[in-house]
Amino acid sequence: MEVYLYGAGDYGHHAQKKIARLYGDTVQIRAFIDRAADRRSMGAVPVVRLEEVVERDIPVVVAMGFNRVVHEVCAELRQRGFQRVYKYLCKENAPYSAGGFLEKECFDMKDFTNPRRGDWIPHIETHAVDYCNLNCKACTHYAPLFKESEFDPDTIYRDMEQFAAFSNRVLSFYIMGGEPFLREDLDEVVRRGRELFPKSILTVVTNGLLIPERVPERVLQAIVDAGALVSISEYKPTEKIIDRITKRLEDAHIDYVIRSAEDKENFIKTISIAADSPYPSLCISNGCVNLYRGHVSRCPSVMYLGRLNEAFSLELPTEGVYPIGDFSSVEEFNARMTETIPLCAHCKNCQIAWEPGADVHRRGDFVIE
Ligand code: SF4
Ligand code: SF4
Repeated sequence: MEVYLYGAGDYGHHAQKKIARLYGDTVQIRAFIDRAADRRSMGAVPVVRLEEVVERDIPVVVAMGFNRVVHEVCAELRQRGFQRVYKYLCKENAPYSAGGFLEKECFDMKDFTNPRRGDWIPHIETHAVDYCNLNCKACTHYAPLFKESEFDPDTIYRDMEQFAAFSNRVLSFYIMGGEPFLREDLDEVVRRGRELFPKSILTVVTNGLLIPERVPERVLQAIVDAGALVSISEYKPTEKIIDRITKRLEDAHIDYVIRSAEDKENFIKTISIAADSPYPSLCISNGCVNLYRGHVSRCPSVMYLGRLNEAFSLELPTEGVYPIGDFSSVEEFNARMTETIPLCAHCKNCQIAWEPGADVHRRGDFVIE
């Protein structure tokens, strides 16, 4: 079988290596398709522009991280008549049962065929818990500022139900935090998430620290039953036990993705108190649409900003959080979730090494002063 890989970046490279390692006998990459096409090949495989591809019957596997871009690319592929479109899932584990590359490593986009902007939503993420067992400097969810004692376990159930009533045509749905495995009833959250978003790529996003010893079998089984992925953010403490984390997941036959230590070594302290800071502008949460307490926002930084403002007596602009009931169509929702909000002027690229924050919270651990 031949495939096109759409995207000659990190995801495309990951797919190329995976095919060579596990599917070399059955899959050949006809070419990479890339919008920039500023290089001629990836190894022995040519890189071409979409306009150069004439075959419409060869599967196209979109190998890209940002679901908002996947949305645009899929719309373009459909408009040009490509019928067999898949999304590469970037799993690290070997497959647990027989099957080919498309079935085991990719998500079939057949339920997300309509190219109209108003047909489906690229990505939604929501907190299973707000607090965390790590205290990372520059956490964009400000999880260290939340306490276990104020946690309401029903929030996520209400939010998922309300959002699904608006639309359950969501390509990627993240259950995250904070640290989601701190919840005793995460199995129920995952089950409910699957019921409400039956067609979505469902992912539990974690720092992984509780997986080797603390997560009950019933929670792992619920993840398997829901066909959900686990995405491990490999911070320094995670990296130290990554073999134990992946072994437990593999023993349970859970598919997982690793956002590697190299990516996580450096953190970006994104919010500057001053809008005219000398650091270059950067959005690190483009498309990370957040759902919380009946509201949505285009990124977590603004959703939880009230907590940051309150903790350090700041007045950063909180506009850009909308009640779900404000939206009358998916098209309107998708458009609003790409609009610039006042906080965007404060988002900068200030790289710091990953470190735990101070025990007594300091403003400088969260913002550029
Ligand atoms: S593990 Fe994630 S949620 Fe927890 S403090 Fe670190 S960045 Fe924030
Ligand atoms: S406030 Fe704007 S620039 Fe900053 S992370 Fe959110 S969407 Fe990106």
